[in-house]
Amino acid sequence: MALSLIPPLTDGPISYQAIYQPAQTGSFHNNNMAALCRGRHRWKRTNCLHVLTRNLSGIYDYDLVVIGGGSGGLACSKEAARLGQKAAVLDYVEPSVKGTKWGLGGTCVNVGCIPKKLMHQAALLGTAVKDARKYGWQISGPICHDWATMAEAIQNHVRSLNWGHRVQLQDKKVKYLNVKGSLVDEHTVRGLTKAGKEMILTAKNIVIATGGRPNYPIGIPGAKEHGITSDDIFWLKKEMVLSSTRRGSDVALECAGFLTGIGLDTTVMVRSIALRGFDQQMAGLITDYMATYGTKFLWKSVPKSVDKLSSGALQVTWTDTRTGDEHKDTYDSVLWAVGRAPETKALGLDQLGVRLKKETGKILLGSDESTSVPNIFAFGDIGEGRPELTPTAVKAGKLLARRLAGLSAELMNYDNVPTTVFTPLEYACVGLSEEDAEERHGKDGIEVYHAFYKPLEFIVAERDASQCYLKVVCARGGEQKILGLHFTGPNAGEVAQGFAMGFQCGATYSHLLQTVGIHPTCAEEVVKVNITKRSGLDPAVTGC
Ligand code: FAD
Ligand code: NDP
Repeated sequence: MALSLIPPLTDGPISYQAIYQPAQTGSFHNNNMAALCRGRHRWKRTNCLHVLTRNLSGIYDYDLVVIGGGSGGLACSKEAARLGQKAAVLDYVEPSVKGTKWGLGGTCVNVGCIPKKLMHQAALLGTAVKDARKYGWQISGPICHDWATMAEAIQNHVRSLNWGHRVQLQDKKVKYLNVKGSLVDEHTVRGLTKAGKEMILTAKNIVIATGGRPNYPIGIPGAKEHGITSDDIFWLKKEMVLSSTRRGSDVALECAGFLTGIGLDTTVMVRSIALRGFDQQMAGLITDYMATYGTKFLWKSVPKSVDKLSSGALQVTWTDTRTGDEHKDTYDSVLWAVGRAPETKALGLDQLGVRLKKETGKILLGSDESTSVPNIFAFGDIGEGRPELTPTAVKAGKLLARRLAGLSAELMNYDNVPTTVFTPLEYACVGLSEEDAEERHGKDGIEVYHAFYKPLEFIVAERDASQCYLKVVCARGGEQKILGLHFTGPNAGEVAQGFAMGFQCGATYSHLLQTVGIHPTCAEEVVKVNITKRSGLDPAVTGC
């Protein structure tokens, strides 16, 4: 046993406490170990593993090797290092079908949350400039938007984040390797550089956090050749003059929202419903709002082909599934947003027996993020049944690092995760949709309080507030435990974040009523809500 300094398990400033723990990893014969583990022969590898499992720490290159340097992988490896573990993170970006590449940080930083929210902000500013006239700003001439300026500013910010992540890893003593990782066995990872150079790393534990990549639809001629995905749109240097955003879920609606907002003629084709899995009344309000502000929707339609015309325009052919009729129209760009596939191809999971869910291809996990193979863990977008969200990946990664360091037994709680869809009218929610609450508790087992309200900032600007709505879904009877909270309106994510804490504390409708509002805000409408759906009374909020 050796005396070492281990920081306490908090996210705050680190103060050190002395505790005893087994000696940390040594590197005295790493090269020999690596050579052994490269084992060309099965029996050799088995012998090698036998040695490894008997010696545990002190024999591997690292305590922890994380494959994937996205939201989850970075959080996990940094936390491990903070707790005194020797950690390495491997991150490698395979260029998109269109050849788009980016740096360290994964989906969120490069091709997800961050550039998306900034483009959403660009669109909101356009609306604000229009509102500004009503508030007395003298803006002469038409308002126009320049894609190149926006893209350059956002791409520069993303590059600064890439750099920031590299610096942080260095500061926190996490070894960063820009290599593609695959598994050799439960303690060995093979890394391959872009130039094809191979390296072997051994670790007591291996964590897979390789996320996912956007799908292209199968069986649609021209789809790959002429279409782009969310892996490309944020890195375009030139404007998409007209765009057709395909299919109707999170990515599609958010992209269509900001494209419309910056003045582009945008159409969304929806095969079935918008925002599957979300409360459908709220999904309807979002798409109604988008339609009012210019986004076109082709409902119940499936694409058939994409052809490039001699003019350079893309001709999209689709079928309206309600009538069976075929239609054609031309667009400048086609963006596919038909879901994402887990990034498992390069990992070699099947040789090791890591079990996947057949239908989704994602890794099957225990509540402690363990896979079917000892010492191999996974979480984030790659994990079956895990929310595809950054904060859950980050939190799960930190908790896993703490458990693997033997300093905590706390598991990730995936219940009541709040989220926001950044459409032009934002939608935030936490807990159950009305449909799910009804299914679990029965129609008579729930009480839904709701309100249509007018954000003050909309009134002077004479903006239509018909879709600004909130509902609180409660268990009926007793203290009326809150089961779900849904809100559309400005800054919806900011509104919902605080209420999400209430959920963790088991908030009830009585608690809501005891809460004093902050005036004048949109969030105060949540604590004032008092009309039930069951009553049939008009839920429109009037007056101050
Ligand atoms: P990722 O962030 O995808 O990181 C995985 C990393 O591993 C990548 O860098 C990948 O290149 C690398 N990798 C893959 N294979 C290998 C290998 N073999 N070797 C080495 N490296 C490898 N979530 C939110 O919470 N809020 C939002 O507003 C939001 N908006 C989004 C918008 C879009 C357009 C998209 C696509 C997603 C959005 N998400 C949002 C989801 C969020 O980005 C993901 O849930 C999150 O990034 C998942 O983190 P992860 O660590 O699991 O994987
Ligand atoms: P989703 O799985 O949410 O939606 C995919 C859409 O594509 C659905 O409308 C689906 O239709 C349709 N679709 C899929 N396959 C086909 C097909 N073969 N033919 C026709 N239509 C098809 O994927 P997204 O890419 O939009 O988002 C992935 C995840 O990323 C989300 O689940 C979310 O967790 C995360 N994300 C989070 C955001 C946020 O927090 N703000 C923003 C963006 C993404 P159907 O419903 O009919 O199956």
